[in-house]
Amino acid sequence: MHEMALVHGVVEAVLEHAESAGASEVTAVFLTVGEGRDVVEEYMQGLFSFLTKGTVAEHARLAVRRSPFKVRFNRCDAVFPIDVFDPSTWGCSRCGTERDYRFHSGMEFTIDRIEIARDAAVKSGAPVARTPKARTRASGADGGACGGPMEAAPLAVAG
Ligand SMILES: [Zn+2]
Repeated sequence: MHEMALVHGVVEAVLEHAESAGASEVTAVFLTVGEGRDVVEEYMQGLFSFLTKGTVAEHARLAVRRSPFKVRFNRCDAVFPIDVFDPSTWGCSRCGTERDYRFHSGMEFTIDRIEIARDAAVKSGAPVARTPKARTRASGADGGACGGPMEAAPLAVAG
């Protein structure tokens, strides 16, 4: 459930930005997420709605752009997108080498732009509503209880 951590980070950054910019509302958030990132977009949308509830970003649209996963082939230096799930894309269509490449791009996770609105109706001098910290009161599934019961260290037995 790493989407939770990623989206939580986004929401925090968005709310910080909104507060420092004096936004009355965040209208849209634009993300670039590389195809190499194994994330489920609908899931991110859901988490974003959940984590922004009761904040100025509550009604923001989350726009996710996927950037292709690209590699640079070692022999000819050509950069091509590949599909990690499709072996037929693992070769270079310029020089023909197969699987001899290094990572080029496609692991991005960036906030490109945050669109905000400043409410003209808010009288000057009126305090801007504080943006509550995003809560992580998520389903009990995350957080991952780990480890079993503590075991006592075995006693050294003196010979
Ligand atoms: Zn090549």
